[in-house]
Amino acid sequence: MAERLQAPRGTFDVLPEEGELRLALHAAAGDLLGRAGYGYFESPVFEDTEVFARGVGQSTDIVQKEMFTFEDKAGRSLTLRPEATAGVCRAYAEHGMHKLPQPVKLWFWGPFFRHEAPQAGRFRQFTQVDAEALGSDDPSLDAELILLLAELLERARARDVRLRLSSLGDAAARESYGVELKAYLREHEGELSEEVRARIDANPLRAFDADHPGTRRVMEGAPLLLDRLAPADAEHFAGVRALLDSAGLAYELDPKLVRGLDYYTRTVFEFESGRLGAQNALGGGGRYDGLVEQLGGPPTPGVGWAAGIERILLASDLAVAGRAKVFVSWTGEAATAFAIARAVRARGGHAEMEQAGRSLKGQLKQADRIGATHVVLVGEGLEVKDMASGEQRPVASVDEAVEAVTP
Ligand code: AMP
Repeated sequence: MAERLQAPRGTFDVLPEEGELRLALHAAAGDLLGRAGYGYFESPVFEDTEVFARGVGQSTDIVQKEMFTFEDKAGRSLTLRPEATAGVCRAYAEHGMHKLPQPVKLWFWGPFFRHEAPQAGRFRQFTQVDAEALGSDDPSLDAELILLLAELLERARARDVRLRLSSLGDAAARESYGVELKAYLREHEGELSEEVRARIDANPLRAFDADHPGTRRVMEGAPLLLDRLAPADAEHFAGVRALLDSAGLAYELDPKLVRGLDYYTRTVFEFESGRLGAQNALGGGGRYDGLVEQLGGPPTPGVGWAAGIERILLASDLAVAGRAKVFVSWTGEAATAFAIARAVRARGGHAEMEQAGRSLKGQLKQADRIGATHVVLVGEGLEVKDMASGEQRPVASVDEAVEAVTP
């Protein structure tokens, strides 16, 4: 026998049982986002590497070490998309979408690729649903998007969900805050853990995550970026919060929420589930008011989120309701059974027929296995069996059989 092959490390096949749930989630996303004016969008699975290098940011983990990058035959560098927003902004600029009525609202679903160490809930190919609104900085868009993701998670029956929310302000505020935080950490260097001390310059925000008791004590008094926002950014954030409050959505203000992408400005948020382990983020996003311009388009505000389908399903109790099914059993000629199955489907029903040469007994077992509500038996004559009551009766014609098994 030839060697058995496997899907690459960190990837997976979607088998039909999970496939049903994914289709249900896709339908829920399309319904929810479509009714809020988000149009379905797709970009290519790979882009010029430049889109992500410039869009996501050279200093991020994604660009530094997680991209699947390759050269095409002409020597151009291409990258499998690690996230959606940079491609959306590239497309917005490329198609002159700034000339359309604003905001332009898009939603998106598809595979994404990151070369990460695989673990529970972390894959090298995963699926994201994504929603973006470009061309307006109105706080109602931030609030609308957050509420839409909350509703999608609710429809997905994701359990034990928490929302963390913050604002990063603008680049100037972040920069002067960084200087202030580093100075504060240096002032208290003696009380900090060695690890935090070593990273004061590289990543001072990490100090907020430390478990070390001394560091935690120091961080209780640390300056917070949220208290240092420019007046316009503070006002914008207050606007977002007021709308979330009026909608009754609970959230936790988390001034140390930082996301792994460089392009965020103002609002940032993340939904997590306590049902998940270390990889507990279901989805998140924020505002990226400079990104379209960075990718060669006109200055354009934007806000959006991405959520991981595999993570949502891991955290959810979603079950798809069974549908009424008909099984067409036959002995002799296939044609009548084939016609009945097609007629049931044409009337909107679900029909399967015997296609593996089973005995009559085996066929009835198969009908049971697929959860058939009715069986049509095609033999010398035609009969219809109700699987719940066990009642079986003859019918005079194909039409009568079809009539009897379709609601
Ligand atoms: P991010 O843009 O990194 O915040 O990703 C958005 C969402 O995509 C996360 O909250 C996860 O649910 C999901 N996600 C990101 N990376 C992975 C991965 N490697 N495997 C599975 N899901 C992921």
